[in-house]
Amino acid sequence: MTEIRGRSDVGQGGDVVPLVYLAKYLPVQGQPDLLLKWNQPVPRYTSYPTVPFWKEHLEAPRWKDAFRARFSECNEKEGISLYIHLPFCESLCIYCGCNKKITTNHSVEDEYLQAIFSEWSMYLQLMERPPVIRELHLGGGTPTFFSPQNLERLMARLLEGAVVHPDHSFSMEGHPNNTSREHLDTLYRSGFRRISYGVQDLNREVQEVIHRIQPFENLCRATADARAAGFTGVNFDLIYGLPLQNLERLRLTIAQAVSLRPDRMAFYSYAHTPWANCAQRLIEESYLPSATEKMELYERGKEWLMESGYTNIGMDHFALPSDDLFKAWRDNRLHRNFMGYTTQDSGMLLGLGVSSISDIGSAFAQNEKTLGGYYQLIGTGDLAVRKGYFLSQEDQAFRRHILDIACKGYTVFDPAWLSVIDEWSMPALRELEGDGLVRIGETGVRLTPAGRPFLRQVCKAFDLHLLRDEKARGAGVVQCGKAVTGERGPSFSKAI
Ligand code: SF4
Repeated sequence: MTEIRGRSDVGQGGDVVPLVYLAKYLPVQGQPDLLLKWNQPVPRYTSYPTVPFWKEHLEAPRWKDAFRARFSECNEKEGISLYIHLPFCESLCIYCGCNKKITTNHSVEDEYLQAIFSEWSMYLQLMERPPVIRELHLGGGTPTFFSPQNLERLMARLLEGAVVHPDHSFSMEGHPNNTSREHLDTLYRSGFRRISYGVQDLNREVQEVIHRIQPFENLCRATADARAAGFTGVNFDLIYGLPLQNLERLRLTIAQAVSLRPDRMAFYSYAHTPWANCAQRLIEESYLPSATEKMELYERGKEWLMESGYTNIGMDHFALPSDDLFKAWRDNRLHRNFMGYTTQDSGMLLGLGVSSISDIGSAFAQNEKTLGGYYQLIGTGDLAVRKGYFLSQEDQAFRRHILDIACKGYTVFDPAWLSVIDEWSMPALRELEGDGLVRIGETGVRLTPAGRPFLRQVCKAFDLHLLRDEKARGAGVVQCGKAVTGERGPSFSKAI
């Protein structure tokens, strides 16, 4: 009997199955059909079940009951996490898939903050005690679209009557072009210590074609300002697969980024989904790298980051050994939720603002996605939750397996669900094992080093919703969740 113990090297670059890498290193060398087999669209598993399987209309009273119950369990023990979505941006980056509203009219800040305050008040009424806030993240959109004074008001209201956990982690997304020293000083005083700058690519021609001009000098200044203000964590987000990107441009981007020594870097795949993101239709498709070129961008980019002292953690993330994410990964404390990888699991993530998602362990809820609809719902004095999902016991068991694979690289089978694992997961796991990508023991399964690029495909072996959906459709590939009709593409972006 093979006991599954300890950690393995958790997979890398779940976004991409890099054929160049595989051709060089994997036991499937010389079998291109086998390599292509794993390059299917597959979820990123920031939730399970994944969003396409949620119900369109969440029962609000049931959500409130579940929220109250979970809050009682979590608050005193671990504290709660908050995500605040701040959707405004001054200009449109045409690759962007976020929920955002483009405007240069800053009078929108006040109306939006009032809606957030109302929503927070409604949730406070569901809490029997003052919330203990452990994690807080400002995302967007562009949080630094808001003035320092308005961000200070936001934080004052959120923390009024709340308790800040002694081991708290407050973080934010910042745009290198508009994050001022005043923003940073203000947020530092509110407890923020980590900022993520969207870098994407530093080549001017790439920046022009994606409509995001941000000179390297701006990133240098924003990074220096963050450190001078006292921020101890600076993250950069890079993207590969953008139009006009090539190896030389990526090499220079990474060299410039590395020269500023960010603590953590995300290296995301550009998901070209013009059927879902209208602005991407402005991208001239002939400017996009081919699948082979994109794989090489990923593979070389990963090598350059690792040669520069960064360790590949989970999907898409690279961190210096001094960074908290690296330590959480090393100590098996990594968690994954809608914010991606996090260093702790507070057990309860509450999302405020338009389109925000909450995760309370037993249920997910997503707020109304249009700004007008969000204001309207909040204006009626009720929560803005729209779609969501209540997890069954089976869902919770298989969610744990997926989180284990994504965060630790192995999972121990839940004895209560062995027959379901045998029926649904084992066929896929055996196929992965046959290709040398996992090792199956009697009590669990572990990624092999060759399986690390396929982390998401291994997670999928425990995605009962997707597996059953595929079977019902008689499909051999992931199209998932909803019918693919007309111009609409698959629910998940293609890996390459
Ligand atoms: S990438 Fe960021 S700044 Fe650009 S449009 Fe999207 S949310 Fe706004």
